[in-house]
Amino acid sequence: MSRVYNFSAGPAVLPEEVLKEAADEMLDYRGTGMSVMEMSHRSKAYDTIIKEAEADLRELMNIPDNYKVLFLQGGASQQFAMIPMNLMKNRKAAYILTGQWAKKAYQEGKIYGEAIEVASSADKMFSYIPDCSDLDIPEDADYVYICENNTIYGTKFKTLPNTKGHTLVSDVSSCFLSEPVDVTKYGVIYGGVQKNVGPAGVVIVIIREDLITEDCLPGTPTMLKYKIHADEGSLYNTPPAYGIYICGKVFKWLKKQGGLDAMKEYNEKKAKVLYDFLDESKLFKGTVRKEDRSLMNVPFVTGNEELDTKFVKEAKEAGFENLKGHRSVGGMRASIYNAMPIEGVEKLVEFMKAFEEKNA
Ligand SMILES: *Cc1c(COP(=O)(O)O)cnc(C)c1O
Repeated sequence: MSRVYNFSAGPAVLPEEVLKEAADEMLDYRGTGMSVMEMSHRSKAYDTIIKEAEADLRELMNIPDNYKVLFLQGGASQQFAMIPMNLMKNRKAAYILTGQWAKKAYQEGKIYGEAIEVASSADKMFSYIPDCSDLDIPEDADYVYICENNTIYGTKFKTLPNTKGHTLVSDVSSCFLSEPVDVTKYGVIYGGVQKNVGPAGVVIVIIREDLITEDCLPGTPTMLKYKIHADEGSLYNTPPAYGIYICGKVFKWLKKQGGLDAMKEYNEKKAKVLYDFLDESKLFKGTVRKEDRSLMNVPFVTGNEELDTKFVKEAKEAGFENLKGHRSVGGMRASIYNAMPIEGVEKLVEFMKAFEEKNA
């Protein structure tokens, strides 16, 4: 068996330890005589799995008691609709446009009410985070929406916007559990787990209790009401049971690594290896304003499309997979999530140095 260094933006690399444990438990989960895939979601064994997953996540993120944790389906994209359906009481919300995912959420928001663009970095291909210290947010806006880490463009909010007292809603899909967060600053934090936490099929929504109400927009399907899922402990219908089980293992792995403070330190050290090289290289260049650089997604270019293609091809042959940039940006992108070991980044940089020498 040989595993590659997988720099995919998502679905993405998972800790090897977690995969091995899941493999060991595949046919007989802890004496139940069945796989977690074959198990009733109402069984005692599964009840323990989902409750422990929630408890471990609460501990990792220090989630206060007045927040609910929901394990849902439909990906991050379904939240683009669920958020306005559940939160847009005044049919008005402010969106900060820092990339394609924020834009998609904004466009979805427009279906349900007045979605207002209050800041954007579209003028420079989303290569920076706009100043959000003094935004013009309507008094009666129901929330301010951000995409905190922009997976495609490689930017990250280092300080949260000044929402002027409005509820902050944040898509953290690609920076979930990569560093500590102060949950109390948000009304809703959510993320699809397939970037940094687990397999595709689960989206985790952390939502302050007072935002969970009966009173959704008219026509909101039952399945898209936070209240239903909150009241039923994410078991209103069959949840993405196997995915939640793997997420639970990743939470335990993160605790073993020392929690989110330790992850932040590791992720900073890891990203620095690549960014330092990009800053000194004569061939490769980062595409993002330095102070807004993501620790998770690192886009870079040579400035020559043919050379980019050659690099991606040769890197793949050398065991570095999925380095091709997003189809809308071109160039390269290395996603270096929690489970990417620092050796993977060090070896990539060695490979880039050798490529540079040969192609200078
Ligand atoms: C991948 C991604 C999404 C979309 O996730 P799906 O689960 O495919 O719907 C949304 N937001 C961000 C920040 C992402 O990285």
